[in-house]
Amino acid sequence: MSLTRFPGFIDVHVHLREPGATNKEDFTSGSRAAVKGGFTYVLDMPNNPGAPTITPERLEEKIRLAGQKAICDVGFHYGTDGHNVNTFPTVWQNPYVYGLKAYCDHTTGELLIEDEMQLEHVFKAWNSEKPILVHGQGETLSTCIELAQTFARRLHVCHVATKEDVEVIREAKKKKQLVTAGITLHHLFLSPADVKRLGNFALVKPEIGGKEDQNILWEALQDGTIDLVESDHAPHTKKEKKRTSPPFGVPGLETTLGLLWKAVHEGKLEQADIIRLLYDNPKKIFNIPDQPATYIALDPKKPYVVGHDGYETKCGWSPFDGWELYGKAETVVLRGKTLVQAGRLV
Ligand SMILES: [Zn+2]
Repeated sequence: MSLTRFPGFIDVHVHLREPGATNKEDFTSGSRAAVKGGFTYVLDMPNNPGAPTITPERLEEKIRLAGQKAICDVGFHYGTDGHNVNTFPTVWQNPYVYGLKAYCDHTTGELLIEDEMQLEHVFKAWNSEKPILVHGQGETLSTCIELAQTFARRLHVCHVATKEDVEVIREAKKKKQLVTAGITLHHLFLSPADVKRLGNFALVKPEIGGKEDQNILWEALQDGTIDLVESDHAPHTKKEKKRTSPPFGVPGLETTLGLLWKAVHEGKLEQADIIRLLYDNPKKIFNIPDQPATYIALDPKKPYVVGHDGYETKCGWSPFDGWELYGKAETVVLRGKTLVQAGRLV
């Protein structure tokens, strides 16, 4: 087996659920899933159920909990309900904060901003180099791009899922606007047949499009319109997913890297793309600090089956269960400390 070394990868979009929903994930299990998946730096989202990260106190609580429990580095995106703009200046100075997340279209959580005036207020108030991350599609996305332009804010568009949104982002980039974009692998890999078979277990926001959208998403990934891959790791218990109205989201930390190697295996991407999408661009866009003496090692050609040696995520399932992927992290070293050896967490 010949192992190749890579930097510890970065996932800028995860939901580690602590505090508020530690029945489905916490900083221990979520960071173990990250490390097992080849990530040494993750950025956690603010829409914790019942305890959204929209006050400096809640932010401090998360920083403390992650510091005690996480086995990799965790940074945070601050949240907004539109009423907490007066807390922005304290928060954007915090070195653990990497961006502001604005939920503009319906999804899981309580942070929806639907009023355009309120959204404008948020963009105006976030007077920081750190990006505003937006969950929003179609017209909402166009509004956010305009607001970012008006106030000269950096905008990161989360989980791009449709050909229309790709077009809007491509146009904005042509005009040299400060827009970046991320994509998830469930939007790239789950076919309409998979979505049908998985039912609630493929229910995500934004929803997974058809073949035409997917082809355009692959093109956008290859031509650089999309800057990075984000898992949007959103663990929910099997029980919750079986309900008649289940929560949106799927786990992704343990399958992102393997799916990207599958894309390399199939000739859709190259090895250099993986480093660009999971390290160089996330690091640059979110200004992630160096992690000295940190690396992962893997064999890009070695196949493995998802789920065969279990899951680290507390929710214990994956929409890719049973898929043959490639290049599982065999070694993970963070600041000189070995966290994964021979493919197992130590
Ligand atoms: Zn998300």
